[in-house]
Amino acid sequence: MKIAFVFAHPDDESLSSGGTIAKYSSTNHNVSTVCLSSSPIRKKEYLDATKILGVQSPIIFDYDDVANHEKEITKDFISFILEFQPEIIITHLEKDYHSDHRTSYSIVREGIEWAAHETQYENPHLVSKLYVAETTILIPNPHILVDITEYYEIKESAIKCYKSQLYKGGENFYIKFHKHRTLMRGAQASTIHAEAFSQIPLKKNSPFYESKHSEL
Ligand SMILES: [Zn+2]
Repeated sequence: MKIAFVFAHPDDESLSSGGTIAKYSSTNHNVSTVCLSSSPIRKKEYLDATKILGVQSPIIFDYDDVANHEKEITKDFISFILEFQPEIIITHLEKDYHSDHRTSYSIVREGIEWAAHETQYENPHLVSKLYVAETTILIPNPHILVDITEYYEIKESAIKCYKSQLYKGGENFYIKFHKHRTLMRGAQASTIHAEAFSQIPLKKNSPFYESKHSEL
């Protein structure tokens, strides 16, 4: 499977889904991470963290924020979908606390729609599934809990690459918060550590899609 983890800032991928990224990267799946914004320090941290997670070709756009560059980022993101052709995309919650996260959700929805239009592109691609992941805002009733027990240490090592962010929220906030979050999700999943996701329904047909029918 080709899976793309698409988030606003360097660190969102490790905080929300680091264990799942490491798990799928190490088990015969083609995993890409796309970070929609950057700064020189955080870019280096992102490349170090995604290397630890086992991502072969991490992508990072050079925009300094997401909310002020929605149009350009959407265009770049459509090019990414057409090139990588992911079956699954994982991104931020629609109603996250951070405006860059909310804008990222909207960019992902828009990109998925337009990349599928045969009237726009010679090689349109329809993404099969979209999931959302939690960072500091929790999902009330997640659809899926991925067991990351074996990959928790890798996730924590990736989070520790973000030295420019780790002081925020008080000492060890990020480490403590995400350790306890994945333990709580692990308890719900009858394992030790887990990460939670919910699925967002996608259209499977449209007058502009190549394939206008599908199975249940
Ligand atoms: Zn973020």
